[in-house]
Amino acid sequence: MAHKEIRRSGPSHAYLSASLLPGPEAQTHNRKLLILDLNGCLLYRTPPMTDAHGNRRRIVYPRPYMPTLCRYLFHPRTRGWLDTMVWSSAQPRNVAEMVEACFGEDKAGLVDVWTRDKMGLTVRGYNQKTSTVKNMERVWAELPTPERHSLFTTVLFDDSFSKAALQPHNHVPVEEYTQAMHERDVHVRVQSADPSYDAHDHTLLAAIGILEALKSETNIANWIRCRGLLRSKENIDAGQRWYQVPEIRDYWVKSGTHVLEDLGVPIVAGIS
Ligand SMILES: [Mg+2]
Repeated sequence: MAHKEIRRSGPSHAYLSASLLPGPEAQTHNRKLLILDLNGCLLYRTPPMTDAHGNRRRIVYPRPYMPTLCRYLFHPRTRGWLDTMVWSSAQPRNVAEMVEACFGEDKAGLVDVWTRDKMGLTVRGYNQKTSTVKNMERVWAELPTPERHSLFTTVLFDDSFSKAALQPHNHVPVEEYTQAMHERDVHVRVQSADPSYDAHDHTLLAAIGILEALKSETNIANWIRCRGLLRSKENIDAGQRWYQVPEIRDYWVKSGTHVLEDLGVPIVAGIS
């Protein structure tokens, strides 16, 4: 069960200094670590509803292109350089359900699945709706991968900024996948038997483009801090998110699409 950690509200001095370094020799830090959030990032989860048997449950709707993201993440060529794990602040039972809905059998390819019990909460905080932080230092210390990861090699995809407060330059913000977006995606599917991928939310295709750009970086924190997500474009306000700028968003989607074509991975929205 959870134990209490010393609370910091922002990044440490050592972290910020290291995020300005050029990064270590490439050959010793080739592997990267992807930490995926679930709710709002890979899926939309309904509020609790009563089903036909009178049970209260929440239905999970994976984001469009989840099957394609799985094929990409667990493709032998991707596994050759990328470790993928899930970290959700939900409780273990709910996390298991969401992982199953998104990954199915592919969940065996995840290096780990972390839940609320890794958030450094007190017993009381664990059982309440408390704001939580994903402290990546904890992952770097505890993850059972042969290669130890660090701020140089790690990226967190999460729709919440506050979750990444301690290591903000290792965070790729993802537009929250909402009920309205999910309903629109379902509507697109109903409208046409063969919708083009242009019609759905593209975030997961863009995520693949971003991951491929990070593959060759030696300091991910430095890349994000130096506006790599905005492709270092001077004319874009630094406060803008990559997904808010159509030109940038389209670049990452196209880039992801090319990667998938190169790997021979079919682009399947898989809306349910
Ligand atoms: Mg989330």
